Amino acid sequence: REVENVDDLIQKVNDLEAKPATPPQDFTELPLSQATQSGLEASHFKKLTTIQSSAIPAALKGRDILGAAKTGSGKTLSFLVPVLENLYRRRWTEFDGLGALILSPTRELAIQIFEVLRKVGRNHAFSAGLVIGGKSLQEERERLGRMNILVATPGRMLQHMDQTADFDIGNLQMLVLDEADRIMDMGFQAAVDAIVEHLPKERQTLLFSATQTKKINDLVRLSLHEPEFVSVHESA
Ligand code: ADP
Ligand code: MG
Repeated sequence: REVENVDDLIQKVNDLEAKPATPPQDFTELPLSQATQSGLEASHFKKLTTIQSSAIPAALKGRDILGAAKTGSGKTLSFLVPVLENLYRRRWTEFDGLGALILSPTRELAIQIFEVLRKVGRNHAFSAGLVIGGKSLQEERERLGRMNILVATPGRMLQHMDQTADFDIGNLQMLVLDEADRIMDMGFQAAVDAIVEHLPKERQTLLFSATQTKKINDLVRLSLHEPEFVSVHESA
């Protein structure tokens, strides 16, 4: 396999429009690393869903995203592809620490995201971990320090931030809030606020939610910067 020139990839992403006049149809049309392209191919993902073709170009450009689309529309890849790519183009390594944090309302959903990440990201060198409880804090903590990408439930994540003295998140580039409405409905508002407060201000935030409520709007105001709105409306 030929060695990829990351500078070329960076140039291609610079040339990409956040809202291309012709939205991408196939993943191969996007400026993605060979590792992600081959991971998508091996997972049999070829065409982008509607939300993916609006969210991914803007997210690759580093924009914050406020995404609304119902269950089953393909939100997971809408954030996992940009997470992998934006760290890859920064030449993220094991020594750079935590680069992306993905918050999910439930353990089950976090595990699903993690499994998709493992499949699509299989050809990347990033380390990835789950922070969902069920193991001792100590056990989770020992692995945490070595992770580049974490998929976590808010309560557990906050517990680590509060109790793990040397847990370094100062380098974090991306925060993803998946199913943000459910995160709020489940009473994690204070936990999310506290987590966001711990994170660097200079970062990219991708927020996905099926509904738009006041709590979501408050969260958006607090944690997103000039977001690109992407939504998929119900249609026949
Ligand atoms: P959501 O998070 O919006 O509920 P998911 O990301 O879980 O949706 O995707 C729903 C289903 O669609 C999953 O089975 C997933 O594998 C499939 N899927 C997602 N994106 C694509 C795609 N681009 N091509 C084919 N199938 C896809
Ligand atoms: Mg989902």
